[in-house]
Amino acid sequence: MVGDYLDGRLVPYGTARGSRRALPQLITRKVVRHVEMYIIPLGTCDCLYEVVAPGVRDGSPVSLPVPAYLLRLDDGKNLLIDTGMSRLHITDPTATWRGTEMVDVLVPVMSEEDDLQKRLAVLDIRPSDIDYVINTHLHFDHAGNNDLFENATFFVQREHYEFAKDNPAFPNRYWNLPALRYELLDGESELLPGIEVILTPGHAPAHQSVMVRLAESGNFVVCGDAVYTQANFDHDSWGGQADPVTARDSALKLKKIAEEQPATLLFGHDPEQANQFHCSPRGYR
Ligand SMILES: [Zn+2]
Repeated sequence: MVGDYLDGRLVPYGTARGSRRALPQLITRKVVRHVEMYIIPLGTCDCLYEVVAPGVRDGSPVSLPVPAYLLRLDDGKNLLIDTGMSRLHITDPTATWRGTEMVDVLVPVMSEEDDLQKRLAVLDIRPSDIDYVINTHLHFDHAGNNDLFENATFFVQREHYEFAKDNPAFPNRYWNLPALRYELLDGESELLPGIEVILTPGHAPAHQSVMVRLAESGNFVVCGDAVYTQANFDHDSWGGQADPVTARDSALKLKKIAEEQPATLLFGHDPEQANQFHCSPRGYR
């Protein structure tokens, strides 16, 4: 977050600070809405540790959790942050990377239960009940089930969408589909009450993270792949990112936001952190 609330509207910090002195009577802390958040586990992606944090445990295999996040909004709408790896991997782990050098580098491991449709059904939600999807970015493990949500509006940064289009590193068959409706974003904003997108490039151009403000559990930032694991911070290891210098800046920006708000950072693929939070069907409010 790079803003504060002025009369319920998001205002850049610079503006808000100036306004605070001039118009103190207008400053009201925004009322946090009753959003519920569910962490949806969608299998793991097996790889070597240096894929996420080079120089830490090189050569060690690791099973990276792949989550999506469901937000139930207090107006009855449902929002997903990311859609995980395609359910095709349940029966065919090579569904995405067969015939490429990635097939042995990133190995999806998904059970029947890791089908996003089944995870949502446990919460009594059908794919047609999803109103919004925020994709942090369009890699195969974050947009793999976009095709399920024809009723939804998808929010992706314009710069990222253009970069990913027809780019084989972002398998287009999962998300670049005529039936899907994308609303392309130009920068940071509060998309919905209590839900804000934060620009965090470096993993990919115009990657975005998402601030979720919960009434009882506090603020969370869904980092996406802006930060894979705590090990990235602990070892200052950013070489697993496409643009390590920019990624480090973005990660430090999130860290600062987390300290200032305060907020809890939910890393993209951290096996240890995943054990510290409960998954759906238990939620956070
Ligand atoms: Zn990822």
